[in-house]
Amino acid sequence: MESVQSDVAIVGAGGAGLRAAIALAQSDPKLRIALISKVYPMRSHTCAAEGGAAGVIKPDDSLEHHFNDTVGGGDWLCDQDAVDYLVQEAPKELIQLEHWGCPWSREPDGSVAVRPFGGMKKQRTWFAADKSGFHILHTLFQTSLQFASIERFDEYYVTELLVHEGRCAGVVAIEMRSGQMRRFDARALIIAGGGAGRMFPFTTNGAIKTGDGMALAYRAGVALKDMEFVQYHPTGLPSTGTLLTEACRGEGGVLLNKNGRRFLQDYGMGPETPLGKPVFKTMELGPRDRVSQAFWQEQKKGNMMPTQWGDAMLLDMRHLGEKTINERLPLVRDMSISYMGVDPVTDPVPVRPVVHYMMGGIDTDTRAATRLPGLFAAGECACVSINGANRLGSNSLTELLVFGRRAALSALEYVKAGAAPVNEGARAALATAAQGRLRELMQRSGSGETVAGLRKEMMQTMEQNAGIYRTSEGLTEACAKLSELRRRYARIELHDKTNVYNTDLLQALELGSMLDCAEAVTQSALARQESRGAHQRLDFTARDDVKFLRHSLALYAQNEPPRIDYRDVVITRSQPGVRDYSGGGGK
Ligand SMILES: Cc1cc2nc3c(=O)[nH]c(=O)nc-3n(C[C@H](O)[C@H](O)[C@H](O)COP(=O)(O)OP(=O)(O)OC[C@H]3O[C@@H](n4cnc5c(N)ncnc54)[C@H](O)[C@@H]3O)c2cc1C
Repeated sequence: MESVQSDVAIVGAGGAGLRAAIALAQSDPKLRIALISKVYPMRSHTCAAEGGAAGVIKPDDSLEHHFNDTVGGGDWLCDQDAVDYLVQEAPKELIQLEHWGCPWSREPDGSVAVRPFGGMKKQRTWFAADKSGFHILHTLFQTSLQFASIERFDEYYVTELLVHEGRCAGVVAIEMRSGQMRRFDARALIIAGGGAGRMFPFTTNGAIKTGDGMALAYRAGVALKDMEFVQYHPTGLPSTGTLLTEACRGEGGVLLNKNGRRFLQDYGMGPETPLGKPVFKTMELGPRDRVSQAFWQEQKKGNMMPTQWGDAMLLDMRHLGEKTINERLPLVRDMSISYMGVDPVTDPVPVRPVVHYMMGGIDTDTRAATRLPGLFAAGECACVSINGANRLGSNSLTELLVFGRRAALSALEYVKAGAAPVNEGARAALATAAQGRLRELMQRSGSGETVAGLRKEMMQTMEQNAGIYRTSEGLTEACAKLSELRRRYARIELHDKTNVYNTDLLQALELGSMLDCAEAVTQSALARQESRGAHQRLDFTARDDVKFLRHSLALYAQNEPPRIDYRDVVITRSQPGVRDYSGGGGK
C-alpha cells in the first residue's frame, strides 16, 4: 500500500480543519501537513452556516457577558475554563478573518455590524448577510492556498486510525477516484470531521454529516462526551428540513401559532414585545432548546398549523419590510420561495423544529487534546466542552476557529516534543489489517441486509425515541433496536463491488459511523435521569445537579453497547442557577 508522509495529518477540511492547517503552516513553514477530506473543502458543511459567529466587539458588551450567556445557555454543563478561552480568543479570530478578506456586513459608519441571536443577551453575532459560513469557509480556503506546505487530499475517505502501543500514528483512507487505499503516516493527527445529524431523518445537516470523525476516535478508545445533547433548531422548512437562520428572529421576525398568538410568552419567555423591536432574552430570542420545547407543547394542545409535512408554526417577517429582508436575509427569502412557495415579504413562512447540531463529541481538554497521545480534535466533532447541554447559536463558527487553531498549536507542541515515530513494520501491519476488513465487507454476500434498509430503521428509531422529549420506555426501545441494527450491520451486503467512486461502499461505512454515534446518544440519554438543556425527560422533569452536574462519557465496546461513565464539570466562578429568559432580570 502506498504511504504518504506528514508531520501532522488533519481529517476534515471544513472550518475547523482549514483553520488548523493554516495555524500549523504559519507556525512552522517546514512542517509537512496532510489535509484529508471526503469532499472538496468548499463543500464542507461550514459553507451552509447562515447566521453568523459570536465575538465581543461592541462597547456595551464584555467577555464576562459572553461567558455568562454561554454557561447559562448550556445549563451549566459547560467547562468554564474552556468557555473563558473561547470568549477571549473569539474577537481575535474574527478580526483575523477580516484581515484575510472575510466580507463582514457593516454598520452605516463602516464599523463591523453585529446582530442579536438567541440566548445572547447582547448583540455580538458578526455576519456576512445570511451567508456567513460560505464567506468564512471561502476566506479560510483561499488563505490556505498560500501555503505550499499544506498538501490536500480531496475525496479521500478515512476509514480507521493507526494506533500502536497507545499512540496515534496516522490513518488509512480510500482514494475515492480509484478505490485504492492509502496509508497516511503522521506524528500527530487532528480530527475535524464535523457533526452527525444525519442519524435523524429530519435535519438541517448536509448529507456528509455522518459522524465519521467521532466514530474514528471512539473505536480507537477515546470516549464520546455528552452525546445525549442533540440540538433541535426551531425553524426548519417542513418540506425539506432546510434551515431558516435564527437571524430571522434576530432581525425581528416573530413566531405564531395557528391562532396568530406569539405563544412563546406562555412558556416563560414573555412578556410580548413590540413587533420589529427584538428584546434580548425574551420571546423569539430565547434559546433553541426552550423554543423547540414550546413548539412541542403547543403541538400537544392542537395549536399548530397542519401542513402536508406535519404540524408547523408560522415565522412572520412581513413587518421587517422588503428592503431589510433583501439586505439582511436574502438567502432566507430565496429558500422560502424555492422550497415552500412562500415569499416572507408578503406571507408568514411555516417552520418546525429540526435536528441541527451535536453538543457532544470526541472528549478533548481545553488544549483540544484527547486522552490518546498524538490525537487532537476540534470543531463540531469535538466536545471541549463550551456548549454544555445547549449550544447558543453563533458560538459554533467561533468554536471551530478558536479550537481549530488551538488543536494545531497543541499538535505542534506534541510533534516538537519528539516522540519516536512508530516503526514501519507496525504501521504496515495495521494498514494491511484495515485493508483486509474492507475487502471482507466488499466480498460479503447472501444476507440481504442493505445500507438503505438499515439506515431507514435507524432514522425512524432516533426520531421516535430520541427527539425533543424522551422517556425511559422509548430510550430502552431505541437502545435495543440499535443493538439489533449493529448485529445486522455486521452482515451488510453491498450491491456495487467496483472500485471507482463506489458510493455504496462509502454509504455503508458512513452508516457504520452513524450507528456507533446513535448508540452513544441513546445509551447516554437513558442513563441521564434528569432534564437539562436539550435533553428533556418526561419521566425525570427536573434538573438534578446532585447526580448529573457531570459529563457523560460513552466508551466503545466491541459488539456490545457502550459503557457509560461520568466526569465532573469544570466550574470556575459561575455556580448553577436558574435559566431565566422571561425578561424579569434573572441570570
Ligand atoms: C444549515 C446550518 C447552518 C448553520 N448556521 C450556523 C451559524 O450561523 N452559526 C454558527 O455558529 N453555527 C452554525 N451552524 C453550525 C456550524 O456551521 C457547524 O457546526 C460547523 O460549521 C462545523 O464545522 P466543522 O469544521 O467542525 O465541520 P464541517 O464543516 O462539517 O467539515 C467536516 C469535514 O470533515 C470531512 N470528513 C468527515 N468525515 C470524513 C472522513 N471519513 N474522511 C475524510 N474526511 C471526512 C468532510 O469532508 C469535511 O471537510 C450551522 C449548521 C448548519 C447545518
